[in-house]
Amino acid sequence: MEDCIFCRIAAGKIPSDIVLEDEGFVAFRDINPKALQHVLVVPREHIASLNELDQLRDRGGHALLRFIVQVAQQLGVEDSGYRAVINVGPDGGQEVQHLHFHVLGGERLGEFW
Ligand code: 5GP
Ligand code: ZN
Repeated sequence: MEDCIFCRIAAGKIPSDIVLEDEGFVAFRDINPKALQHVLVVPREHIASLNELDQLRDRGGHALLRFIVQVAQQLGVEDSGYRAVINVGPDGGQEVQHLHFHVLGGERLGEFW
């Protein structure tokens, strides 16, 4: 997906502040952080949203969750706590059409519902 910004970040074609990566996933700092620690986790493979999860090779959902725990460890927030959020579609406020988790922490987060 040449025109997808997160595909381009995952491929290293656009600079980003990468926190952790493996063969399947990349974690990089959000350009407009909403918390002291705000990292985006994306699969390297392009899927538009959570709704397409089953299209990931190897049914990568569980691996994606395990990767998020590794990101939390890397950020040093696994004990202080964090929030992992997926926005889906217009009502969910999804702006970038490539599946991503927001991992937020490093401070006490406000309630959001
Ligand atoms: P969404 O609203 O789709 O759930 O979240 C998209 C997120 O991507 C936003 O928090 C936004 O700040 C972040 N973002 C958009 N473009 C870029 C970019 O080019 N680089 C980085 N690091 N983050 C981006
Ligand atoms: Zn993409």
